[in-house]
Amino acid sequence: GSTIGILGGGQLGRMMALAGSAMGYRFVALDPTPDGPCGQVSDQIVAAYDDRDAARELAKRSDVITYEFENVDAGVAAMLMAESYVPQGSELLYTTQHRLREKRAIEASGVRVAPYSEIRSAEELRAAAERFGLPCVLKTATGGYDGKGQWVIRSFDEVEEAYETLSRSGAELVLEQFIRFEKELSVIAARSPQGEIKAFPAAENIHIDNILHLSIVPARISEAVQQEAEKLAMRIAEGLGVVGLIAVELFLTTDGELYVNELAPRPHNSGHYTMEACRTSQFEQHVRAVCNLPLGDTSLLTPVVMVNVLGQHVEPLLARVQEHDEAAERLKVAPKLHLYGKKDAVHKRKMGHVNVLADNVEAALQWIEETTIWKV
Ligand code: ATP
Ligand code: MG
Ligand code: MG
Repeated sequence: GSTIGILGGGQLGRMMALAGSAMGYRFVALDPTPDGPCGQVSDQIVAAYDDRDAARELAKRSDVITYEFENVDAGVAAMLMAESYVPQGSELLYTTQHRLREKRAIEASGVRVAPYSEIRSAEELRAAAERFGLPCVLKTATGGYDGKGQWVIRSFDEVEEAYETLSRSGAELVLEQFIRFEKELSVIAARSPQGEIKAFPAAENIHIDNILHLSIVPARISEAVQQEAEKLAMRIAEGLGVVGLIAVELFLTTDGELYVNELAPRPHNSGHYTMEACRTSQFEQHVRAVCNLPLGDTSLLTPVVMVNVLGQHVEPLLARVQEHDEAAERLKVAPKLHLYGKKDAVHKRKMGHVNVLADNVEAALQWIEETTIWKV
């Protein structure tokens, strides 16, 4: 069989390798940490992501190369493309690595983003904040995750400090109007090299401290909004010439308007629900797309709520799974546990997730509520 090389060795690579191994592929990950989530279930080259010799070895050992994070060094991407087959290309990485380029590409696909402005000085920030009104959100253009590299400006007195703090390391900045969303949604779409596109059902996402807590599917939105969200994601996949997965994070306002927040050109935490709840998981779909196979059916098999397991949840969860689950039996839910094989259960670190399959999302939410694990 063919070997798929993955740049990165975290949980997304692990679940990709688990899905792809079942399809007969072999995997080799390039990651600096030995015996990480992916390395435990695949071969691994232990080296830094920007190590050119290691990248060359990955290319030599792989028939196809993909990645599980978007901040891939442009030089490494170019080298991999010269020495192996990288169906996703480097353009998609270049675009999604930078919030301004990403927003312009989304708009060019005919899809709306929250009003934004490039910020090059404290004066520009003040002027843009006056235009957008308060609050507004200042973000670094590159490198942010879990809300890091962001400042919600609530008073004009904060303008100088916000600018100085976020631009400290020479970061480029973007200011966004604050969207008073009713819900946050996400849609994951896949596109094959031939241009076949399929979207997964929209997820309703609830964050705690800027970290994803729950994905609820079906999302508690109208059929029309659901279809519109899926259409937007497919339009972006087409417009950006995506190969593989594109995750589209959306804001839904009270008047039913959708705005794109940001993109991720890879499997996404809010798509983990697909592992048991859809006919095809996001990981299988990604493998299908980058290996140029026909895409799988994305239909939902059952209502589901995905709940993230962070470092502080691991101990109570492991104690809980040893006991008879009276609540699951009564509520007729099936909680499916996924752990990523990480050793240090550090507070707020993503260690795993539970897909709670149920007859309806209320029953799944009730099980999470009664399982006191997520109160810490
Ligand atoms: P990640 O990549 O982990 O999803 P991130 O650090 O790239 O996060 P964003 O997704 O841009 O950050 O923002 C984090 C959260 O902050 C959003 O999910 C949303 O709840 C809130 N947020 C971000 N931008 C806005 C905005 N313009 N208006 C209102 N809320 C916002
Ligand atoms: Mg992000
Ligand atoms: Mg986000």
